[in-house]
Amino acid sequence: MTNGIWYNVNVMISALNQLGIEYQLNVDSGEISTLRCGGRVKVVAKPKSSFELIMLLDTLNRYNEPYYPIGACSNTLIVDAGYNGVLIDLSLINHLSQTHSTLVVGCGTRLPTLALKANRLHLSGLEPLCTIPGSVGGAIVKNAGCFGEEIANLITSVTYLDIKTLTEHTANCKEIPFEYRSSGRFFDDKIVLSVTFKLTPTNKDCLETMTSYRNKRLKSQPTSPSLGSVFKRTADVISAGYYIDKAGLKGTTIGGAKVSEKHANFIVNTGSATSADYLKLATLCKNKVKEEFNITLNREIDIIGEHNLDK
Ligand SMILES: Cc1cc2nc3c(=O)[nH]c(=O)nc-3n(C[C@H](O)[C@H](O)[C@H](O)COP(=O)(O)OP(=O)(O)OC[C@H]3O[C@@H](n4cnc5c(N)ncnc54)[C@H](O)[C@@H]3O)c2cc1C
Repeated sequence: MTNGIWYNVNVMISALNQLGIEYQLNVDSGEISTLRCGGRVKVVAKPKSSFELIMLLDTLNRYNEPYYPIGACSNTLIVDAGYNGVLIDLSLINHLSQTHSTLVVGCGTRLPTLALKANRLHLSGLEPLCTIPGSVGGAIVKNAGCFGEEIANLITSVTYLDIKTLTEHTANCKEIPFEYRSSGRFFDDKIVLSVTFKLTPTNKDCLETMTSYRNKRLKSQPTSPSLGSVFKRTADVISAGYYIDKAGLKGTTIGGAKVSEKHANFIVNTGSATSADYLKLATLCKNKVKEEFNITLNREIDIIGEHNLDK
């Protein structure tokens, strides 16, 4: 093809082949995002190490290709127009090493897997987080948490790649401005490579505790595809779901997207939702809560592509 974009893609693809980096072309977002909808993604690249990631970023910079890092894509919506760039899927960077009660964990490791592995190593602390379907890197960026625990409390440092200089650095957790479901703008030009956890040695098998957290979640949250909570809790520290419920929006449907009857801050894909359905419904919730209670809901989810659902 002589079309500029595809010419670049072909050149870039042959560079990825030379580097031995795994990739897929023209991928359906339904296979990527836990919302199971969205448009097509031009390239999904899967580096297996920080070395491959650096080579990949160097190549993408050389060809002026836009890119976006993802972990488990459990908090990220991809718009129906898709993404005309390279999604960097970090799930293969999933190493783990232990020194006493300290674990150094690759950014792509899933939290449920990590909690199970820590339990086998007789280390406790991650049990509540075993119910969050995200990766360690995504959880750090979003300061994920549940049942009164958040990831920032369990770590000592984060090793990251500065995407401008392609150099590795380590930040002590105190340097990172963690707050409720946020790490500020600390990781804006950075990719989390690995995270050092400080856990508590235990002789107890924590499997039962993890199962009880799972059961609690199953009672209060839907199992249909979603991105978890759409909005953050409000400035008065009340759950966004409380206001969405009070506004009478539980069960409201637009296309295939529905405000969950079980948990009003979850919008689920009932099977045929488009990303546009989801965004329209989220906008409706935001506007109605503003109108009825003069409360501004700020979104917790991230969005790849153009949209009107402001932060
Ligand atoms: C059913 C369900 C339940 C959920 N429950 C909870 C919950 O209880 N508590 C909670 O906090 N969240 C919850 N979530 C949301 C989500 O799982 C968390 O926010 C999770 O931490 C996101 O991780 P991820 O790997 O999926 O991130 P992604 O969605 O892949 O990415 C999120 C953001 O992080 C960035 N990112 C990802 N990896 C990296 C990296 N290595 N370096 C730099 N940037 C990166 C992305 O660019 C994006 O901006 C839930 C989601 C679902 C679907």
